[in-house]
Amino acid sequence: MITASVAELSRALLARRLSSVELAGGLLDRIDAANRTLNAFLTVDREGALTQAKAADKRIAAKTASPLTGIPLAHKDVIMTAGLRTTCGSRMLENFVAPYSAFVAEKLADAGMVLVGKTNMDEFAMGSSNENSYFGPVKNPWNTTCVAGGSSGGSAAAIAARLVPAATGTDTGGSIRQPAALSGVCGLKPTYGVCSRYGLIAFASSLDTPGAFGQTAEDCALLLNAMAGHDARDSTSLDRPAEDYTRLLKENAANAGAKPLAGLRIGLPREYFGAGTEPDIAKAIEAAIACLRSLGATTVDVSLPNVDYSLPVYYVISPAEASSNLARFDGVRYGHRAPKYDDLMDMYKKTRAEGFGAEVKRRILVGTYVLSHGYYDAYYLKAQQVRRLIADDFQRAYQSCDVIVGPTSPTTAFCLGDKTDDPVKMYLNDIFTIACNLTGAPAISIPCGFDGKGLPIGLQIQGDAFAEAQILNVAHRYQQATDWHQRVPASFAP
Ligand code: GLN
Repeated sequence: MITASVAELSRALLARRLSSVELAGGLLDRIDAANRTLNAFLTVDREGALTQAKAADKRIAAKTASPLTGIPLAHKDVIMTAGLRTTCGSRMLENFVAPYSAFVAEKLADAGMVLVGKTNMDEFAMGSSNENSYFGPVKNPWNTTCVAGGSSGGSAAAIAARLVPAATGTDTGGSIRQPAALSGVCGLKPTYGVCSRYGLIAFASSLDTPGAFGQTAEDCALLLNAMAGHDARDSTSLDRPAEDYTRLLKENAANAGAKPLAGLRIGLPREYFGAGTEPDIAKAIEAAIACLRSLGATTVDVSLPNVDYSLPVYYVISPAEASSNLARFDGVRYGHRAPKYDDLMDMYKKTRAEGFGAEVKRRILVGTYVLSHGYYDAYYLKAQQVRRLIADDFQRAYQSCDVIVGPTSPTTAFCLGDKTDDPVKMYLNDIFTIACNLTGAPAISIPCGFDGKGLPIGLQIQGDAFAEAQILNVAHRYQQATDWHQRVPASFAP
């Protein structure tokens, strides 16, 4: 029971068939047993979790509970949690305890969720394999010689191994969806601005998006219900009426019949179905599309002629913003400070040389270069112009379809060390996820099969801005017709 989905656990908790203290205790034991192998958690807060669980049980008894009250949760370690260490996967913040909590952390705590710990991640969320973490890589629960994906690899692996039912992540170029695909779980990237970025350690401010991991699309919807909302402390946070992201999941449950997706037009971009995607993935995606057709959807071919530029555009814009955001780590205000130095300049240099890993330094160098005088117009400005063209492509496509479907990643989980010598090869793993960070639109990755080696495959469903409820519904209907999301890696079966 303790390894069930959020929705199932919520029913059990509210019916008092299970207490939050039992649930949290049981999962903390699973974490203790599994973490040496997986390295998914950087911090585990047993005492704090059990205190919160006790409070949740009281709230349930008092009948003031929300659907998330008493449910254990893990935060990606880029999300600040007052009183609990936040490392961002970096030596720079190895011992950093934030003075305040992120907006999304506050909202999930207000809903009564029980924070069990913080998950491992690529340093400053830069990476696609979690191998850039100062604290070592996360291992994939399906095969521990493989990566879990990145940068939110710890959250994805924790869900896959059933160590927690719910986790947060951040997605700047695919860091929720790509590890969700490689680890065989669901990962939702909401529309930019729907969840406040307040209290996330910033990587690339125009792209960073907090979101949710779970076993099911329904669980992601439940989490988003609590995480969304306006926040005056983030100037890009949107002030929109509150939505129930589960509404479509319930709405047509009664009268859905055999064709719950009747009327839905699925766009299939020709750019997502070319060479370069592993054949087992292409096959699984075809099968998933056939399943969606059997549920009533129709498909239409669309084209995104500029989408191939997503990767180069992203690798100009995101390092540019990162170089500016990471200037604050100077050894003066917080985090690591070099123990020995001559003068102030030397202190900055030594602190940053010691505190940052190779990938972070690479991004800072690229970022300062593309922003420098004489190169700004050629690189940064040009990238922003192409970003607009990519967004226009999607707008054109959405005139003839409601959602866009394709693979989340061109490969399944690769072996640890396989791509660490070749950054461009690593960057290419995000080829399908980056576009919607550039446009701000939402997308979800859900499990849709396995390759010949038994590694999970992810299906990406993208929608236009604010189409969360719709893409969640498509994912949910698919999950009602299939059981890929219920598979658990053998070594972590309950
Ligand atoms: N893998 C991409 C990168 O390295 C995306 C990271 C992210 O979404 N945080 O930048």
